[in-house]
Amino acid sequence: MHASPLSSFPARRAIRARLRLAGLLAAGLAACAGAAAQAPDTAPEAQTAYTPKQAAMARRFMAVTAHPLATDAAWRVLDRGGHAIDAAIAAQAMLSLVEPQSSGLGGGAFLLYYDAATGTVSAFDGRETAPAAAGADRFLEDGRPMEFAQAVDSGKSVGVPGMLRALELAHARHGRQPWRTLFDDAIARARHGFPVSQRLAALLDGNARLAAQPAARAYFFHADGTARRQGEILRNPALARTLADIARHGADAFYHGAPAQAMVDAVRAHPQPGDLSLADLAGYAARERPALCRPYRAYTVCGMPPPSSGGLAVAQMLALLDATPLARYAPLSAEAVHYFSEAGRLAYADRDRYVADPDFVDVPVQALLEPAYVARRAALIRPDRAMGRAHPGEPLPGALSRHGEDDTPALPSTTHLSIVDAEGNAVAMTASIEQAFGSKIFVGGFLLNNELTDFALSPRDARGRPAANRVEPGKRPRSTMAPTIVLRRDGAGPALRLVVGAPGGVAIANYVAQTVLANLTWGLDIQSAIDLPRYGSRNGPTELERGTVLESLQPALRAMGHATAVVSSPSGLHGVEMMSNGMLRGGADPRREGMARGR
Ligand code: GLU
Repeated sequence: MHASPLSSFPARRAIRARLRLAGLLAAGLAACAGAAAQAPDTAPEAQTAYTPKQAAMARRFMAVTAHPLATDAAWRVLDRGGHAIDAAIAAQAMLSLVEPQSSGLGGGAFLLYYDAATGTVSAFDGRETAPAAAGADRFLEDGRPMEFAQAVDSGKSVGVPGMLRALELAHARHGRQPWRTLFDDAIARARHGFPVSQRLAALLDGNARLAAQPAARAYFFHADGTARRQGEILRNPALARTLADIARHGADAFYHGAPAQAMVDAVRAHPQPGDLSLADLAGYAARERPALCRPYRAYTVCGMPPPSSGGLAVAQMLALLDATPLARYAPLSAEAVHYFSEAGRLAYADRDRYVADPDFVDVPVQALLEPAYVARRAALIRPDRAMGRAHPGEPLPGALSRHGEDDTPALPSTTHLSIVDAEGNAVAMTASIEQAFGSKIFVGGFLLNNELTDFALSPRDARGRPAANRVEPGKRPRSTMAPTIVLRRDGAGPALRLVVGAPGGVAIANYVAQTVLANLTWGLDIQSAIDLPRYGSRNGPTELERGTVLESLQPALRAMGHATAVVSSPSGLHGVEMMSNGMLRGGADPRREGMARGR
């Protein structure tokens, strides 16, 4: 094992190093920022200046979202006695307007909810579904998978949006304030305008693929073809009307009638038409599922079950790491990167092979978390040597093939919000339209998702075995979104400890597992845990965040056999921790534009 300058006892030292690291990170990211603002799908590091953030402290409630206006919308709902789910709806309506590249009405969401009165966690699944007309060969051309970018910018990538139905279901179960009041802030902003943020402007600048879509071009670009600029006031009257209808008549106003027809028409009018139908929209149903909860040390860590792979991957990584000496090492030591990456390899190998929509495929979730199985897998982690590419385990005989997507970079899109209300109820919600600006099909003031490219583009693997995550009618594509809620198990009953989650595409499970570990095990406060330079492996190279002190660990890691890659990590983590004195501490990721605010 290599002695690292950072490998003496971790937490306090790491905290002291935080500002210095933040400075290093900012310098590195600023150096990259000149590089290429043009290609949003390949250069996400160019999008947001690294802005160090202070943790927000509060006694009663806290909201952390990806945009100050969305945080404020949630804050106002909480301040008038609203429930965490009410506040999440208000925030998400605002995000549809001000962070359109990431999420919105045209996309999906996973919402994890902690109910303080019962001490239980439940999961709401608003994942998009494949249209009834979708077949396994959807993304094939002459028998071969089409180019990923071509699949993205297409009517074929558009799944039936699910977010609004999930919010409606969660509100029907637990909401307190009238549904119709929750959209007021977003409607007013859509009518009167909002300032284009630095990040949105950077993602728009030179975005030829977005400008190629006429409706999107008319909204996001000027008549001369230049993109909307930072600080420009952008009005979205079409979204104001859509939201006002939804506020008045519920989600039915979106899934039926003129808005539904407009979505169907837009998808079918695309040069590469899709097959979304009115019946698909009318038939969409969100699902309430049992949360995936596992003990971890003195805690219970709850996450999203399949069709997301996020909860399972985070649970596996924490369990695997508990069998290693990781906790003894500093968070930024070569040893920590080594153990964390090895656990990631094992978890991502299983994820690739086994996880898909549980309504279509038997996902062996319990078997993959059995202590004996985890112990067998953990034994593959050596203290001094990287394992290379991990193979999936065999918790049960006869499991389906791996699926074969996934060498995509961490994405600049998607959004996560974490909210705790004055009664102690909590929401962790990750919402997405997949790539930045989704399919780029703009209708009714919002963008339609390209979530169906989260399916295996090829229905079979190289040996001809069917992929678990192949396209099937009505099926939900596998996700990595990992909204997470952690409870303490040490008191009289369960008590809230941590609410967290992240965007970031396939890297999400690594981002969330690292942050949970940093907060619970290394004892970093939530802001410091979020600030930590990102590392981990998705069963490819060991990834180290660009522009950070991690780059200096490369020689030590390579000597242990790690293939290293320096990558941008636009993690966008947002979290709230309940401190032992009952105070709430909110943290927002300095890599994006989010804000924590409480009272
Ligand atoms: N579509 C991705 C998923 O469901 C999320 C994309 C992102 O995080 O940027 O896992």
